[in-house]
Amino acid sequence: MTNKHDVEHSKSFGPDRALVMSALEALYSRYRGCDEGRIADYIPELSKADPDCFAISIVTVDGEVFEVGDIESQFTIQSLSKPFTHAIALEDHGREYVMQRVGVEPSGDSFDSIIRLDANNRPHNPMVNAGAIAVSSMIEGDSPGHRLDRMLDMFARTMGRTPSIDNEVFESERTTGHRNRAMAHLILNFGIIERDVEEVLDLYFKQCSILVNARDMATMAATLANGGVNPKTKQRAIKREYIRDVLTVMHTCGMYNYAGEWAYTVGLPAKSGVSGGIIAVVPGQFGICVYSPPVDERGNSVRGIKVFENLSRNSGMHVFETWHQHGQVLNHIDEVKDPSPPLPSTVVPVGDATVHKREIDLDGSSDQAEDDS
Ligand code: GLN
Repeated sequence: MTNKHDVEHSKSFGPDRALVMSALEALYSRYRGCDEGRIADYIPELSKADPDCFAISIVTVDGEVFEVGDIESQFTIQSLSKPFTHAIALEDHGREYVMQRVGVEPSGDSFDSIIRLDANNRPHNPMVNAGAIAVSSMIEGDSPGHRLDRMLDMFARTMGRTPSIDNEVFESERTTGHRNRAMAHLILNFGIIERDVEEVLDLYFKQCSILVNARDMATMAATLANGGVNPKTKQRAIKREYIRDVLTVMHTCGMYNYAGEWAYTVGLPAKSGVSGGIIAVVPGQFGICVYSPPVDERGNSVRGIKVFENLSRNSGMHVFETWHQHGQVLNHIDEVKDPSPPLPSTVVPVGDATVHKREIDLDGSSDQAEDDS
């Protein structure tokens, strides 16, 4: 096994391919049989996904690729798109304009929460749907087609190939996305959206319907890890000055109402999407994507969470782990084979839930709570 203290001196040699691949294979076989979670079906087309699909891809800032599983399986990007459109809005308008309209505060609510805007009637952040719809409305262009092209250009630069849109998913989302439509009208009311609301929604639904695979997403994450330069094409995709903004918001808000626990147990800027992808960034080192369609009640991939939790706990990927900071995290990756016990993230709280129950009572929806007690 690699000695942690030796690794700092080996940083210039890059990760050991055999070591990384055997660790990824160990993770893949450990979690392949997991049958928790269910496929999101509130967008009808998404329910067609294969629950057994499972892929892990790592792309380093030097453009090296390590991957296992169903790497060629395509899925729609969904909310994994949000950090990248946030980057476009920042490039088009600057921080002040974007911050005036969308905050950077975790909401503590689900991704599609419809009720709460912040005290300034802004969406809480660009990672929840209301904020992402607002951000999509900020993409500049002379016409709807031009705005779509500019958005697709960003995805092409960050993934290093021309993306296509899954029209069935787009139509499915457009015809059933009443909740997103309601949110868009709410923020239109507060002057956050300044364009035709249906055009904005079409752009947002198309953005969510971009087809990707796990390698594309790992490349996009690696572009963020590499200061905005795509490590495969070596071309700048995102202005360096905004990488910090994008990664910060991913770190605090990317996992929705799991963001705090994720920051504690995994500790990486990340983003999840309801089609089953999770991307995470180890700044200056690499990007990772795990794809597996069954998601938990918060819309986060179940196998994805397990893989990241294990990787972070055992190989020191957490941004606040200090011992690896001058070395290559990937050189510790084989420690996933002999995992240490999980952090107590799944403990049953000892707190008394009475107060919450009383709130439910006041709400007039107490029957369930009474029955349960
Ligand atoms: N397109 C999805 C929606 O708007 C994205 C949600 C997600 O991936 N969490 O509902």
